[in-house]
Amino acid sequence: MSGRLAVIGLGPGDARYVTPDAQAALAGAEALYGYGPYLDRVPVREGQSRHASDNREEGARATAALHHAAAGASVAIVSGGDPGVFAMAAAVCEELAAGPPAWRALDIAIVPGVTAMLAVAARAGAPLGHDFCALSLSDNLKPWETIERRLDAAAGAGFVIALYNPISRARPWQLGRAFERLRGVLPATTPVVLGRAVGRADEQVTVTTLAAADPNAADMATLIIVGSVETHVIERPGRPPLVYTSRSAQGARA
Ligand code: SAH
Repeated sequence: MSGRLAVIGLGPGDARYVTPDAQAALAGAEALYGYGPYLDRVPVREGQSRHASDNREEGARATAALHHAAAGASVAIVSGGDPGVFAMAAAVCEELAAGPPAWRALDIAIVPGVTAMLAVAARAGAPLGHDFCALSLSDNLKPWETIERRLDAAAGAGFVIALYNPISRARPWQLGRAFERLRGVLPATTPVVLGRAVGRADEQVTVTTLAAADPNAADMATLIIVGSVETHVIERPGRPPLVYTSRSAQGARA
């Protein structure tokens, strides 16, 4: 089977975060699939068809792209950030696993991108300098009880936690509950970074504490990093603070 499907990460926003590998994969595609605003970031190329779909239609989008590739085309699906982080690469694998055996003969390429967690961390300093984990706060695809259990476990185990999908119109209370939950495990002074639309024109990065963290300061374009006991803030004159997590944990041998 000659069809090809590339699942491409566009990075957090600005074109300068699109890797040369992603640019080459985009240029080589006959058809582009993706959420409309992500497709809008890709320069128009003559002869390349575009298939925009709603953000919640990931399974249907993956299936449509697989069918198109199986017909022999060179197809690309675009994702914000990295396609493997809460995004299209897993949706494609799910559909492929459940789909016709012929799909397994397709040439599938996952092209990595700068995920939001890394873009926000870089703006703030080095909050992911020691052990960390990433959690989606969306309870569309898992029960809220699972999220609470994972928050408790991650904070209790000393991980810095990156929170994706913190809040949306359909999920207004989850982030407030998550902060409450974390306050039960972590010191009130734990540094918290809120990074909004990082890598875009309206980027905003705020450093606060777990006690002061305000869920209303976040929206669906925000990624939140909650520190651990090893996370510190360096205040600087006339410059934003640097947030970092020490490379060694208490009790470690030097
Ligand atoms: N695949 C994407 C994540 C998709 S989940 C990636 O790797 O980045 C969508 C969530 O990602 C958003 O709710 C937000 O938490 C985060 N996000 C995506 N782009 C962002 C950006 N430019 N700045 C801050 N957070 C972002």
